[in-house]
Amino acid sequence: MMQNHLRTLFAALSVLILSACAGTQPPATTIAAEARAPVTILISIDGLRPDYLDRGVSPNINALAASGVKALMRPSFPSLTFPNHHSVVTGLRPDRHGIVDNTMVDPRRPEVRFTLGDARQSLDPFWWDEAEPIWVTAEKAGVRTGTMFWPGSEVAIHGTRPQDWLRYDKAVSGTQRINTVLDWMRRPPAIRPRFVTLYFDTVDTVGHELGPDAPETTTALAEVDRLIGDLVAGLNAIGQPANVVLVSDHGMGATADDRVIRIDRMIAPDVGTVVTEGPLSGVNALPGKDSDVAAALLAPHDHMQCWRKGAFPARFAYGKNPRVPEFLCLAARGWAIQARDRESILKGMHGYDPAEPDMAAVFIAAGPDIASGAALPVFDNVDVYPLLTRLVGIAPVPAIDGRAETLAPVLRPAN
Ligand code: AMP
Ligand code: ZN
Ligand code: ZN
Repeated sequence: MMQNHLRTLFAALSVLILSACAGTQPPATTIAAEARAPVTILISIDGLRPDYLDRGVSPNINALAASGVKALMRPSFPSLTFPNHHSVVTGLRPDRHGIVDNTMVDPRRPEVRFTLGDARQSLDPFWWDEAEPIWVTAEKAGVRTGTMFWPGSEVAIHGTRPQDWLRYDKAVSGTQRINTVLDWMRRPPAIRPRFVTLYFDTVDTVGHELGPDAPETTTALAEVDRLIGDLVAGLNAIGQPANVVLVSDHGMGATADDRVIRIDRMIAPDVGTVVTEGPLSGVNALPGKDSDVAAALLAPHDHMQCWRKGAFPARFAYGKNPRVPEFLCLAARGWAIQARDRESILKGMHGYDPAEPDMAAVFIAAGPDIASGAALPVFDNVDVYPLLTRLVGIAPVPAIDGRAETLAPVLRPAN
Protein backbone atom coordinates (compact mmCIF):
# COMPACT_ATOMS: atom_id res chain seq x y z
CA MET A 1 0.00 0.00 0.00
CA MET A 2 2.80 2.33 0.93
CA GLN A 3 4.35 1.45 -2.39
CA ASN A 4 1.11 2.26 -4.20
CA HIS A 5 0.69 5.53 -2.36
CA LEU A 6 4.22 6.55 -3.15
CA ARG A 7 3.78 5.70 -6.79
CA THR A 8 0.52 7.62 -6.98
CA LEU A 9 2.07 10.60 -5.27
CA PHE A 10 5.07 10.41 -7.54
CA ALA A 11 2.86 10.25 -10.63
CA ALA A 12 0.85 13.26 -9.47
CA LEU A 13 4.01 15.17 -8.63
CA SER A 14 5.57 14.45 -12.01
CA VAL A 15 2.50 15.85 -13.75
CA LEU A 16 2.75 18.97 -11.62
CA ILE A 17 6.51 19.30 -12.11
CA LEU A 18 6.35 18.73 -15.85
CA SER A 19 3.54 21.25 -16.17
CA ALA A 20 5.39 23.77 -14.03
CA CYS A 21 8.44 23.41 -16.29
CA ALA A 22 6.25 23.98 -19.30
CA GLY A 23 4.84 27.05 -17.60
CA THR A 24 1.22 25.89 -17.90
CA GLN A 25 -1.44 24.74 -15.47
CA PRO A 26 -2.33 21.09 -16.02
CA PRO A 27 -6.00 20.47 -16.74
CA ALA A 28 -7.68 19.07 -13.63
CA THR A 29 -8.60 15.88 -15.50
CA THR A 30 -4.94 15.10 -16.18
CA ILE A 31 -4.14 15.15 -12.48
CA ALA A 32 -7.16 12.99 -11.69
CA ALA A 33 -6.20 10.44 -14.32
CA GLU A 34 -2.57 10.30 -13.24
CA ALA A 35 -3.35 10.15 -9.55
CA ARG A 36 -5.39 6.97 -9.64
CA ALA A 37 -4.19 4.26 -7.28
CA PRO A 38 -4.15 0.79 -8.85
CA VAL A 39 -7.24 -1.31 -8.21
CA THR A 40 -6.84 -5.04 -7.57
CA ILE A 41 -9.23 -7.04 -9.76
CA LEU A 42 -9.64 -10.73 -8.91
CA ILE A 43 -11.24 -12.54 -11.85
CA SER A 44 -12.51 -16.13 -11.76
CA ILE A 45 -13.33 -18.05 -14.92
CA ASP A 46 -15.12 -21.06 -13.49
CA GLY A 47 -13.91 -24.40 -14.83
CA LEU A 48 -11.17 -22.94 -17.05
CA ARG A 49 -8.73 -25.80 -17.53
CA PRO A 50 -5.24 -24.46 -18.30
CA ASP A 51 -4.89 -26.20 -21.67
CA TYR A 52 -7.99 -24.39 -23.00
CA LEU A 53 -5.71 -21.35 -23.27
CA ASP A 54 -3.72 -23.18 -25.96
CA ARG A 55 -6.74 -23.51 -28.25
CA GLY A 56 -6.05 -20.25 -30.03
CA VAL A 57 -9.23 -18.45 -28.97
CA SER A 58 -8.02 -16.44 -25.97
CA PRO A 59 -5.75 -13.66 -27.28
CA ASN A 60 -6.72 -11.20 -24.54
CA ILE A 61 -6.14 -13.57 -21.63
CA ASN A 62 -2.91 -14.77 -23.23
CA ALA A 63 -1.76 -11.16 -23.66
CA LEU A 64 -2.35 -10.57 -19.95
CA ALA A 65 -0.26 -13.65 -19.17
CA ALA A 66 2.49 -12.49 -21.54
CA SER A 67 2.68 -9.09 -19.86
CA GLY A 68 2.82 -10.60 -16.36
CA VAL A 69 3.02 -14.13 -14.99
CA LYS A 70 1.22 -17.38 -15.62
CA ALA A 71 1.36 -20.66 -13.70
CA LEU A 72 -0.47 -23.90 -13.09
CA MET A 73 -2.36 -23.85 -9.83
CA ARG A 74 -3.55 -26.82 -7.76
CA PRO A 75 -7.09 -26.50 -6.44
CA SER A 76 -7.83 -27.40 -2.84
CA PHE A 77 -9.75 -30.58 -2.12
CA PRO A 78 -12.51 -31.05 -3.14
CA SER A 79 -12.04 -29.50 -6.61
CA LEU A 80 -15.50 -27.90 -6.55
CA THR A 81 -16.64 -24.33 -7.04
CA PHE A 82 -17.64 -23.01 -3.62
CA PRO A 83 -14.83 -24.62 -1.60
CA ASN A 84 -12.20 -23.31 -4.01
CA HIS A 85 -13.52 -19.81 -4.47
CA HIS A 86 -13.51 -19.51 -0.70
CA SER A 87 -9.95 -20.89 -0.46
CA VAL A 88 -8.71 -18.23 -2.88
CA VAL A 89 -10.19 -15.37 -0.84
CA THR A 90 -9.38 -16.77 2.64
CA GLY A 91 -6.03 -18.57 2.20
CA LEU A 92 -7.56 -21.53 4.01
CA ARG A 93 -8.29 -25.10 3.01
CA PRO A 94 -11.99 -26.01 2.89
CA ASP A 95 -11.60 -28.10 6.04
CA ARG A 96 -10.69 -24.90 7.89
CA HIS A 97 -12.85 -22.28 6.15
CA GLY A 98 -15.95 -24.43 6.52
CA ILE A 99 -17.29 -24.44 2.95
CA VAL A 100 -16.30 -28.08 2.59
CA ASP A 101 -18.51 -28.83 -0.44
CA ASN A 102 -21.14 -27.28 -2.70
CA THR A 103 -23.63 -29.42 -0.76
CA MET A 104 -23.27 -29.70 3.01
CA VAL A 105 -24.97 -31.08 6.08
CA ASP A 106 -23.90 -29.76 9.48
CA PRO A 107 -24.56 -31.92 12.56
CA ARG A 108 -25.52 -28.69 14.38
CA ARG A 109 -28.33 -28.16 11.83
CA PRO A 110 -29.23 -31.73 10.90
CA GLU A 111 -32.62 -30.82 9.49
CA VAL A 112 -31.30 -28.67 6.61
CA ARG A 113 -28.85 -28.92 3.75
CA PHE A 114 -26.62 -26.24 2.21
CA THR A 115 -26.98 -26.27 -1.57
CA LEU A 116 -26.14 -23.67 -4.22
CA GLY A 117 -29.78 -23.45 -5.25
CA ASP A 118 -31.23 -22.87 -1.76
CA ALA A 119 -30.64 -19.23 -0.87
CA ARG A 120 -32.16 -19.66 2.59
CA GLN A 121 -29.18 -21.78 3.56
CA SER A 122 -26.46 -20.61 1.14
CA LEU A 123 -26.93 -16.98 2.18
CA ASP A 124 -27.05 -17.72 5.93
CA PRO A 125 -23.88 -16.50 7.71
CA PHE A 126 -23.98 -19.68 9.83
CA TRP A 127 -22.27 -21.52 6.97
CA TRP A 128 -19.69 -18.81 6.25
CA ASP A 129 -18.59 -17.50 9.62
CA GLU A 130 -15.70 -19.95 10.10
CA ALA A 131 -13.37 -17.75 8.01
CA GLU A 132 -12.94 -14.13 6.94
CA PRO A 133 -12.66 -13.44 3.20
CA ILE A 134 -10.35 -10.68 2.01
CA TRP A 135 -13.16 -8.22 1.27
CA VAL A 136 -14.32 -8.33 4.90
CA THR A 137 -10.80 -7.71 6.21
CA ALA A 138 -10.37 -4.91 3.65
CA GLU A 139 -13.67 -3.23 4.56
CA LYS A 140 -12.76 -3.42 8.24
CA ALA A 141 -9.44 -1.74 7.38
CA GLY A 142 -11.27 1.06 5.56
CA VAL A 143 -10.54 -0.21 2.04
CA ARG A 144 -13.63 -0.11 -0.14
CA THR A 145 -14.49 -3.32 -2.02
CA GLY A 146 -16.92 -4.33 -4.76
CA THR A 147 -17.89 -7.85 -5.84
CA MET A 148 -19.31 -8.49 -9.29
CA PHE A 149 -20.29 -11.99 -8.09
CA TRP A 150 -18.19 -14.32 -5.96
CA PRO A 151 -19.44 -17.15 -3.76
CA GLY A 152 -20.02 -15.81 -0.25
CA SER A 153 -19.96 -12.16 -1.26
CA GLU A 154 -23.75 -11.86 -0.83
CA VAL A 155 -23.49 -12.96 2.79
CA ALA A 156 -22.83 -10.70 5.78
CA ILE A 157 -19.75 -12.66 6.92
CA HIS A 158 -18.65 -11.52 10.38
CA GLY A 159 -21.36 -8.91 9.93
CA THR A 160 -19.76 -7.28 6.88
CA ARG A 161 -20.47 -7.30 3.14
CA PRO A 162 -18.56 -5.58 0.34
CA GLN A 163 -19.90 -2.03 -0.03
CA ASP A 164 -20.89 -2.96 -3.58
CA TRP A 165 -22.21 -6.48 -4.13
CA LEU A 166 -24.84 -8.16 -6.26
CA ARG A 167 -27.09 -11.10 -5.69
CA TYR A 168 -25.86 -13.94 -7.90
CA ASP A 169 -27.83 -14.22 -11.12
CA LYS A 170 -26.59 -16.27 -14.07
CA ALA A 171 -28.77 -14.13 -16.37
CA VAL A 172 -26.62 -11.03 -15.84
CA SER A 173 -24.64 -11.00 -19.09
CA GLY A 174 -20.88 -10.91 -19.28
CA THR A 175 -21.07 -7.44 -20.79
CA GLN A 176 -23.19 -6.23 -17.89
CA ARG A 177 -20.63 -7.66 -15.47
CA ILE A 178 -17.74 -5.86 -17.20
CA ASN A 179 -19.70 -2.62 -17.42
CA THR A 180 -20.56 -2.76 -13.73
CA VAL A 181 -16.87 -2.95 -12.82
CA LEU A 182 -16.00 -0.16 -15.26
CA ASP A 183 -18.79 2.01 -13.82
CA TRP A 184 -17.32 1.52 -10.36
CA MET A 185 -13.97 2.73 -11.74
CA ARG A 186 -15.60 5.91 -13.09
CA ARG A 187 -16.67 6.94 -9.61
CA PRO A 188 -14.90 9.62 -7.59
CA PRO A 189 -12.03 8.21 -5.52
CA ALA A 190 -13.87 8.28 -2.19
CA ILE A 191 -16.48 5.78 -3.39
CA ARG A 192 -14.41 3.83 -5.88
CA PRO A 193 -13.63 0.21 -4.85
CA ARG A 194 -9.95 -0.65 -4.50
CA PHE A 195 -10.54 -4.40 -4.49
CA VAL A 196 -12.95 -5.93 -6.99
CA THR A 197 -14.02 -9.46 -7.90
CA LEU A 198 -15.47 -10.57 -11.21
CA TYR A 199 -16.90 -14.03 -11.96
CA PHE A 200 -17.77 -15.89 -15.18
CA ASP A 201 -19.73 -19.15 -15.05
CA THR A 202 -20.21 -20.10 -18.72
CA VAL A 203 -17.00 -22.04 -19.43
CA ASP A 204 -17.86 -24.36 -16.52
CA THR A 205 -21.51 -24.71 -17.51
CA VAL A 206 -20.77 -25.68 -21.11
CA GLY A 207 -17.85 -27.87 -20.00
CA HIS A 208 -20.30 -29.87 -17.83
CA GLU A 209 -23.00 -30.13 -20.46
CA LEU A 210 -20.90 -30.98 -23.49
CA GLY A 211 -17.51 -31.96 -22.08
CA PRO A 212 -14.08 -30.31 -21.91
CA ASP A 213 -13.23 -31.23 -25.50
CA ALA A 214 -16.44 -29.93 -27.09
CA PRO A 215 -16.06 -27.04 -29.56
CA GLU A 216 -18.82 -25.23 -27.64
CA THR A 217 -16.60 -25.17 -24.53
CA THR A 218 -13.88 -23.50 -26.58
CA THR A 219 -16.46 -21.02 -27.92
CA ALA A 220 -17.52 -20.19 -24.35
CA LEU A 221 -13.90 -19.35 -23.54
CA ALA A 222 -13.62 -17.22 -26.70
CA GLU A 223 -16.62 -15.20 -25.49
CA VAL A 224 -15.18 -14.67 -21.99
CA ASP A 225 -11.85 -13.74 -23.57
CA ARG A 226 -13.58 -11.04 -25.61
CA LEU A 227 -15.04 -9.67 -22.38
CA ILE A 228 -11.59 -9.62 -20.75
CA GLY A 229 -10.43 -7.61 -23.76
CA ASP A 230 -13.33 -5.18 -23.23
CA LEU A 231 -12.39 -4.86 -19.57
CA VAL A 232 -8.74 -4.07 -20.30
CA ALA A 233 -9.72 -1.57 -23.03
CA GLY A 234 -12.24 0.06 -20.71
CA LEU A 235 -9.73 0.40 -17.89
CA ASN A 236 -7.22 1.95 -20.30
CA ALA A 237 -9.83 4.40 -21.59
CA ILE A 238 -10.61 5.50 -18.03
CA GLY A 239 -6.90 5.65 -17.17
CA GLN A 240 -7.40 3.22 -14.31
CA PRO A 241 -4.29 1.16 -13.49
CA ALA A 242 -5.16 -2.36 -12.36
CA ASN A 243 -3.39 -5.34 -10.89
CA VAL A 244 -5.37 -8.20 -12.41
CA VAL A 245 -5.26 -11.64 -10.82
CA LEU A 246 -7.10 -14.10 -13.06
CA VAL A 247 -7.74 -17.59 -11.72
CA SER A 248 -9.92 -20.59 -12.25
CA ASP A 249 -11.27 -22.70 -9.43
CA HIS A 250 -10.55 -26.11 -11.01
CA GLY A 251 -10.34 -27.81 -14.40
CA MET A 252 -12.74 -30.29 -15.99
CA GLY A 253 -12.57 -34.04 -16.64
CA ALA A 254 -14.44 -35.92 -19.38
CA THR A 255 -17.11 -38.30 -18.02
CA ALA A 256 -19.44 -40.72 -19.81
CA ASP A 257 -22.65 -42.69 -19.31
CA ASP A 258 -20.77 -45.99 -19.33
CA ARG A 259 -18.43 -44.93 -16.52
CA VAL A 260 -20.90 -44.67 -13.64
CA ILE A 261 -20.67 -46.18 -10.14
CA ARG A 262 -24.07 -46.56 -8.44
CA ILE A 263 -23.52 -45.88 -4.74
CA ASP A 264 -27.26 -46.10 -3.99
CA ARG A 265 -27.02 -49.80 -4.83
CA MET A 266 -24.42 -50.19 -2.07
CA ILE A 267 -26.09 -47.99 0.57
CA ALA A 268 -29.79 -48.61 1.15
CA PRO A 269 -31.82 -45.59 2.37
CA ASP A 270 -32.36 -47.24 5.79
CA VAL A 271 -28.60 -47.67 6.25
CA GLY A 272 -27.06 -44.36 5.22
CA THR A 273 -27.58 -41.00 3.55
CA VAL A 274 -25.67 -40.14 0.40
CA VAL A 275 -24.94 -36.44 0.98
CA THR A 276 -23.05 -35.74 -2.27
CA GLU A 277 -22.48 -37.51 -5.58
CA GLY A 278 -20.12 -36.94 -8.48
CA PRO A 279 -16.38 -37.56 -8.51
CA LEU A 280 -16.59 -37.25 -4.71
CA SER A 281 -19.42 -38.84 -2.78
CA GLY A 282 -19.95 -38.36 0.95
CA VAL A 283 -22.06 -40.74 3.01
CA ASN A 284 -23.36 -40.53 6.58
CA ALA A 285 -24.46 -43.67 8.39
CA LEU A 286 -27.88 -43.73 10.03
CA PRO A 287 -27.85 -44.38 13.82
CA GLY A 288 -26.58 -47.88 14.57
CA LYS A 289 -25.64 -48.55 10.93
CA ASP A 290 -21.99 -47.50 10.94
CA SER A 291 -20.65 -51.03 10.50
CA ASP A 292 -23.06 -51.73 7.61
CA VAL A 293 -21.87 -48.63 5.77
CA ALA A 294 -18.26 -49.48 6.56
CA ALA A 295 -18.68 -53.02 5.25
CA ALA A 296 -20.25 -51.80 2.02
CA LEU A 297 -17.89 -48.93 1.29
CA LEU A 298 -14.50 -49.81 2.73
CA ALA A 299 -14.20 -53.00 0.68
CA PRO A 300 -12.23 -52.67 -2.59
CA HIS A 301 -14.16 -51.27 -5.57
CA ASP A 302 -13.42 -50.88 -9.23
CA HIS A 303 -12.79 -47.23 -10.19
CA MET A 304 -13.55 -45.91 -6.69
CA GLN A 305 -11.95 -45.87 -3.28
CA CYS A 306 -13.66 -45.04 0.03
CA TRP A 307 -12.32 -44.04 3.41
CA ARG A 308 -13.60 -43.07 6.82
CA LYS A 309 -13.02 -39.35 6.95
CA GLY A 310 -10.42 -39.74 9.73
CA ALA A 311 -8.39 -42.03 7.47
CA PHE A 312 -8.59 -39.87 4.34
CA PRO A 313 -5.07 -39.33 2.89
CA ALA A 314 -3.36 -36.42 4.66
CA ARG A 315 -2.42 -34.65 1.43
CA PHE A 316 -6.09 -33.78 0.92
CA ALA A 317 -6.14 -31.85 4.25
CA TYR A 318 -9.78 -32.82 4.55
CA GLY A 319 -11.87 -34.53 7.20
CA LYS A 320 -11.58 -32.66 10.51
CA ASN A 321 -14.51 -30.34 9.86
CA PRO A 322 -17.81 -31.67 11.30
CA ARG A 323 -19.46 -30.84 7.95
CA VAL A 324 -17.36 -33.46 6.12
CA PRO A 325 -19.49 -36.62 5.82
CA GLU A 326 -18.36 -39.68 7.80
CA PHE A 327 -17.39 -41.69 4.72
CA LEU A 328 -15.73 -40.31 1.58
CA CYS A 329 -15.61 -42.08 -1.79
CA LEU A 330 -13.48 -40.75 -4.61
CA ALA A 331 -13.94 -41.87 -8.21
CA ALA A 332 -11.04 -42.67 -10.53
CA ARG A 333 -10.36 -40.27 -13.40
CA GLY A 334 -13.21 -40.34 -15.93
CA TRP A 335 -15.67 -42.07 -13.57
CA ALA A 336 -18.65 -40.63 -11.72
CA ILE A 337 -20.39 -41.80 -8.54
CA GLN A 338 -24.17 -41.46 -8.85
CA ALA A 339 -26.97 -42.06 -6.39
CA ARG A 340 -29.96 -42.42 -8.75
CA ASP A 341 -31.13 -43.39 -12.20
CA ARG A 342 -30.47 -40.79 -14.87
CA GLU A 343 -31.05 -40.89 -18.58
CA SER A 344 -27.57 -39.51 -19.04
CA ILE A 345 -24.90 -37.94 -16.88
CA LEU A 346 -22.93 -34.76 -17.40
CA LYS A 347 -20.17 -35.04 -20.01
CA GLY A 348 -17.71 -33.12 -17.83
CA MET A 349 -17.14 -33.14 -14.09
CA HIS A 350 -14.69 -31.93 -11.45
CA GLY A 351 -14.25 -32.82 -7.81
CA TYR A 352 -11.46 -35.37 -8.36
CA ASP A 353 -8.03 -35.47 -6.73
CA PRO A 354 -6.59 -31.95 -7.22
CA ALA A 355 -3.27 -33.49 -8.26
CA GLU A 356 -4.85 -34.90 -11.45
CA PRO A 357 -3.80 -32.83 -14.48
CA ASP A 358 -7.45 -32.45 -15.61
CA MET A 359 -8.26 -30.70 -12.33
CA ALA A 360 -5.46 -28.11 -12.60
CA ALA A 361 -6.46 -24.46 -12.42
CA VAL A 362 -5.18 -21.28 -14.05
CA PHE A 363 -3.25 -18.47 -12.37
CA ILE A 364 -2.39 -15.31 -14.27
CA ALA A 365 -1.36 -11.95 -12.82
CA ALA A 366 -0.51 -8.71 -14.57
CA GLY A 367 -0.37 -5.03 -13.68
CA PRO A 368 1.84 -2.21 -12.43
CA ASP A 369 2.84 -4.07 -9.24
CA ILE A 370 3.37 -7.44 -10.94
CA ALA A 371 6.78 -8.48 -12.21
CA SER A 372 6.68 -9.84 -15.72
CA GLY A 373 8.03 -13.24 -16.66
CA ALA A 374 8.63 -14.65 -13.17
CA ALA A 375 8.79 -18.46 -13.44
CA LEU A 376 6.63 -20.19 -10.86
CA PRO A 377 6.30 -23.83 -9.86
CA VAL A 378 2.85 -25.44 -9.63
CA PHE A 379 1.42 -24.07 -6.40
CA ASP A 380 -1.65 -24.39 -4.16
CA ASN A 381 -4.54 -21.98 -4.57
CA VAL A 382 -4.43 -21.00 -0.86
CA ASP A 383 -1.19 -19.17 -1.75
CA VAL A 384 -3.10 -16.56 -3.78
CA TYR A 385 -4.59 -14.90 -0.68
CA PRO A 386 -1.29 -13.50 0.69
CA LEU A 387 -0.53 -12.02 -2.76
CA LEU A 388 -3.95 -10.36 -2.78
CA THR A 389 -3.49 -8.84 0.69
CA ARG A 390 -0.10 -7.46 -0.42
CA LEU A 391 -1.63 -5.92 -3.55
CA VAL A 392 -4.54 -4.44 -1.61
CA GLY A 393 -2.23 -3.24 1.16
CA ILE A 394 -3.89 -4.88 4.14
CA ALA A 395 -2.63 -7.27 6.81
CA PRO A 396 -3.59 -10.91 6.19
CA VAL A 397 -5.54 -12.68 8.91
CA PRO A 398 -3.19 -14.81 11.03
CA ALA A 399 -2.61 -18.58 10.74
CA ILE A 400 -3.68 -19.14 7.16
CA ASP A 401 -2.78 -22.27 5.18
CA GLY A 402 -1.34 -20.28 2.26
CA ARG A 403 2.34 -19.31 2.06
CA ALA A 404 3.31 -15.73 1.19
CA GLU A 405 6.73 -16.90 -0.12
CA THR A 406 5.21 -18.79 -3.07
CA LEU A 407 4.03 -15.72 -4.94
CA ALA A 408 6.50 -13.20 -3.50
CA PRO A 409 8.51 -13.31 -6.78
CA VAL A 410 5.40 -12.08 -8.56
CA LEU A 411 5.55 -8.70 -6.85
CA ARG A 412 7.57 -6.06 -8.63
CA PRO A 413 10.27 -4.76 -6.26
CA ALA A 414 9.39 -1.33 -4.82
CA ASN A 415 10.80 1.41 -7.01
P1 AMP B 1 -20.14 -26.56 -9.67
O1 AMP B 1 -21.31 -27.41 -9.32
O2 AMP B 1 -19.00 -26.75 -8.72
O3 AMP B 1 -19.77 -26.71 -11.08
O4 AMP B 1 -20.62 -25.06 -9.46
C1 AMP B 1 -20.71 -24.15 -10.50
C2 AMP B 1 -21.98 -23.39 -10.41
O5 AMP B 1 -21.95 -22.53 -9.28
C3 AMP B 1 -22.17 -22.51 -11.62
O6 AMP B 1 -23.08 -23.08 -12.49
C4 AMP B 1 -22.68 -21.23 -11.04
O7 AMP B 1 -23.91 -20.86 -11.63
C5 AMP B 1 -22.85 -21.49 -9.57
N1 AMP B 1 -22.50 -20.31 -8.77
C6 AMP B 1 -21.40 -19.56 -8.90
N2 AMP B 1 -21.41 -18.52 -8.03
C7 AMP B 1 -22.55 -18.62 -7.35
C8 AMP B 1 -23.14 -17.85 -6.33
N3 AMP B 1 -22.53 -16.77 -5.83
N4 AMP B 1 -24.33 -18.26 -5.85
C9 AMP B 1 -24.95 -19.36 -6.33
N5 AMP B 1 -24.44 -20.12 -7.31
C10 AMP B 1 -23.25 -19.76 -7.82
ZN1 ZN C 1 -16.30 -24.23 -10.52
ZN1 ZN D 1 -18.59 -26.96 -12.39
